[in-house]
Amino acid sequence: MQTKRSSIDRVHPETELIKEGAQLLAAGELVAFPTETVYGLGANALDVSACAKIFEAKGRPQDNPLIVHVCNRSMADPLVKHWTTAAELCVQHFWPGPLTLILPKTALVPDIVTAGLANVAIRIPSHPVALRLIQAAGFPIAAPSANLSGKPSPTSGGHVWRDMKGKIPLILDAGVCQVGLESTVLDVSGEIPTILRPGGISKERLETVLGEIQVDALSDHQVPKAPGMKYRHYAPRGELLLLSGIRERVVQRMGQEIQRGHARLKRVAVLCTIESAPFLHNQLPDLLFVLGSKDRPEEVASNLFEGLRLCDERGMDLILAEGIVETGLGSAVMNRLEKAAGKRTKYI
Ligand code: AMP
Ligand code: MG
Repeated sequence: MQTKRSSIDRVHPETELIKEGAQLLAAGELVAFPTETVYGLGANALDVSACAKIFEAKGRPQDNPLIVHVCNRSMADPLVKHWTTAAELCVQHFWPGPLTLILPKTALVPDIVTAGLANVAIRIPSHPVALRLIQAAGFPIAAPSANLSGKPSPTSGGHVWRDMKGKIPLILDAGVCQVGLESTVLDVSGEIPTILRPGGISKERLETVLGEIQVDALSDHQVPKAPGMKYRHYAPRGELLLLSGIRERVVQRMGQEIQRGHARLKRVAVLCTIESAPFLHNQLPDLLFVLGSKDRPEEVASNLFEGLRLCDERGMDLILAEGIVETGLGSAVMNRLEKAAGKRTKYI
């Protein structure tokens, strides 16, 4: 299939391109589009065979449900059986934005979207292109991240192009996504709101509105509530070692790992904070990528996937990533790095 990649204005999306995207979606095709978190791979959420194409294009396991994107509350209402008080509060304070709510679904939502679960994941994105596209389509759009399953999520049109060219008809390219990490997935179907996946809205921010909330302790177990969390995710091709703790120790250990890697003829990358970079330059890694300041986790979040993807492009065999403090978006950053590292996480 021929893939068209069209530049679209982030703030004032060109009407013709929005129309073209909406028509393709209505015809049961896939369209990749930007959101404020990462790029989505969209299909008509009410069309089973269109949704099936998402799983095919991504190589996504069938038991990993999709997030449904809507442009306003009235598009969401027919999909949700009932809204809890916590859900209403979230809608009021965080929509549009990087927060996905898990709520009991109606029969209108096909099983393929929820992987047979009784709840649906739903959000209103804040990106103007996403909003205009959903509005023009007139139906909800199921859209997971527009990457090949298991790979780091795409935060630029170029990332989508590399993963999806030849597989989908259209990529709407509005440049780099601001948040750069996926949405927070919050289960508000029960009594106590529970974070199933940390993301673009921090636990601290949610708690200012909801009071104390839970983080799903099961997310790494065999049958997690958010099925996607059980898979190896966000993983570059190279092996990733996550090192977290006191800076001096992290820097020293990275130096040792670089030498060890080079002795085994491996190409070694370092992903680190701006504060640690001066100590790592002279250790001569093959690639040094600065994620941002340790004091600005949102900056690290927005650069993380670009860094991981760059490691793949440059053929890195070993990637040494510096951990950051788990406050604000820091906990989402660490969640992604831990998933990418598999078991190779060291707190030193
Ligand atoms: P992605 O769209 O690739 O960011 O992945 C969406 C993730 O949201 C999935 O991997 C699940 O972990 C979670 N999710 C989606 N739908 C549901 C649902 N109905 N119940 C619980 N978690 C869900
Ligand atoms: Mg994804």
